[in-house]
Amino acid sequence: TAMPTTNSLILRNGSLLDTRAGAIVGKRDVVVEDGRIAEVSESAGARDGVAEINLGGKTLMPGLCDAHVHVIASTPNFPQLLTWSPLYTAARASELLRDMIDRGFTTVRDCGGADFGLARAVDEGLLDGPRILYAGHAISQTGGHGDMRGPGENWDECCCCAGLGKIADGVPEVRKACREEIRKGANFIKIMASGGVSSPTDRISSTQFAEEEVAAAVEEAEAAELYVAAHVYTARAANRVLRAGVRSIEHGNLIDEETFDLLKENDAFLVPTMATYQALASEGVEAGMPADLVAKVHDVFEAGQETAAKAYDAGVKMVFGTDLLGSMQRHQLTEFAIRSAFQSPAETIRSATVTAAELFNEVGETGEIIEGARGDMIVLDGDPLADIGVMQDPDRYLKLVVKGGTVMKEALN
Ligand code: ZN
Ligand code: ZN
Repeated sequence: TAMPTTNSLILRNGSLLDTRAGAIVGKRDVVVEDGRIAEVSESAGARDGVAEINLGGKTLMPGLCDAHVHVIASTPNFPQLLTWSPLYTAARASELLRDMIDRGFTTVRDCGGADFGLARAVDEGLLDGPRILYAGHAISQTGGHGDMRGPGENWDECCCCAGLGKIADGVPEVRKACREEIRKGANFIKIMASGGVSSPTDRISSTQFAEEEVAAAVEEAEAAELYVAAHVYTARAANRVLRAGVRSIEHGNLIDEETFDLLKENDAFLVPTMATYQALASEGVEAGMPADLVAKVHDVFEAGQETAAKAYDAGVKMVFGTDLLGSMQRHQLTEFAIRSAFQSPAETIRSATVTAAELFNEVGETGEIIEGARGDMIVLDGDPLADIGVMQDPDRYLKLVVKGGTVMKEALN
């Protein structure tokens, strides 16, 4: 069947999954007009020239959000990625974006690498993919998680090429780097505030950026009514950036009770990305990650799952994120399985819908099927509240993906 190409559409007879309630609330028709949901009712009238799809009672829910992706990371080998043409990088990214849509993701937050050009290409329909909220370059100190130089290398930051990070040292450089990203339309600012796995010269345990540099980034973001997301692993790194006003803690594998309290007091969010550690530990080298860097994964892999479970018990607001790189991006939906070890399906689904919307400052726009929200919806042949496995096998269960009222994937019959 030919796919409708307009952004108006009527979906009939879906079993509506209310993400806030965590329940199927009954049979509904949903009308999307000009990309936005115009009506949710038990029986919507037909509209002139608007195509209709009957869902036959299948589960209808909002499109999924992944709050931590790198859509240009078609390889986990970042030094190599830095040598690629940005045009080649974008061409490779188009594949990753198409695959994300095919898994049911309609919004992704890119934590380093995507830019205004790629987001625009998706918005204009030149590339099939989820809407991209982007940080531009993740900002890193010299020798930090965004610095891909080995200890014996001293090349200047490459100006021709694509990359995930940008180096800034000292308050003036951090301010300027933030302002540059904001000038380019960033939806948030991403800073590297501790060591990481994929960077060659830092340790997981190191803190990065001085407190005044973090505070400067927060001030610049807030001036533009945006917020800062920080890559951190340890409690030591997380607590200082939370005190400085950071809103989103990325990874947080080694945070503690004090961090949980600070997250709650500051109305901040935790974005664990457990899928990537599982994937790196099992196939990182094969996927092209330098072997000495994969060794760093083991320090954080198991701790991450324990910490996330404790954070959930402590009442921390948690958002769905994956952070997968290269060919490992195909494991994006395994995050549902990993979280189901300590969360109900309803809660995991919230983390990928309404709670994500809260982090994105898009409540009422994203993550729920209500009037005025974006027309981003998926249809499943099964009930993910009863069996979260339904989320994880799109070939079998995912029957329809609609983004902004446009059908992106259809397998109803
Ligand atoms: Zn990170
Ligand atoms: Zn990341």
